[in-house]
Amino acid sequence: MRNYKYYKAFINDIFWFLKRQIFCRNSASILMYHSVSDEKQFFTVSPEEFNWQMKYLQNNNYNVISLNDLIKKIQNKEIVNKKTIVITFDDGYEDNFINVYPILKQYNYPATIFLSTGLMSGHRNGLKMLSWEQIMEMSNYGIDFEPHTQTHARLTELDNNQAEEEILKSKQDIENNLNKKCTCFAYPWGNYNKETIEILKNLEFISAVTVHRGFVSQKISPYELPRNFVDSWVTKFRFLLKI
Ligand SMILES: [Zn+2]
Repeated sequence: MRNYKYYKAFINDIFWFLKRQIFCRNSASILMYHSVSDEKQFFTVSPEEFNWQMKYLQNNNYNVISLNDLIKKIQNKEIVNKKTIVITFDDGYEDNFINVYPILKQYNYPATIFLSTGLMSGHRNGLKMLSWEQIMEMSNYGIDFEPHTQTHARLTELDNNQAEEEILKSKQDIENNLNKKCTCFAYPWGNYNKETIEILKNLEFISAVTVHRGFVSQKISPYELPRNFVDSWVTKFRFLLKI
């Protein structure tokens, strides 16, 4: 497991940690998860590890806020406290309901789950996806759901009309099922360009999250919010570098 890529990721964590300490202490960390389960996939975090991470945030007085609250702070030019954390999940795996939801309730933490809405109740990467019943239950509790296209498309490989349709349909699926307005988008594969951002603006999105590393301060474009990936390789020490 401890191969070249592991050490590269570790060195990257240290680089970003130091950069934050020097240039932008007043910044938030948006954590990006996918799956929390005992499956041995690269992007899967074990429930024990996830619980340890949430407990660490609570015991050390981190301020875990919703993505919408972070975006409001940035719009209002408020100073973002360096202990500000936002929790996000991509794709919509069923284990988000089975393993994540009880832990979020236990710590009373908000979270945003980005759904590729055409994949719901199906499978992706060999894992089961959420059903709309599960999504509705979590939404009623206060978990936020936002779009991640219909088919997990690489948007820059589509023409603009197709890209717009992928984004709009996933937005409508969530808005119609959950009776809410979606304003934040997650780019599948972190794949986007200037035209993608224009499409989002036309569809009344006010922000979007990427898979670029880094921390969120006033200097960051709301359509290119960086996130810090938490996967099975993220040890306790590496987690501390990301928060
Ligand atoms: Zn995704």
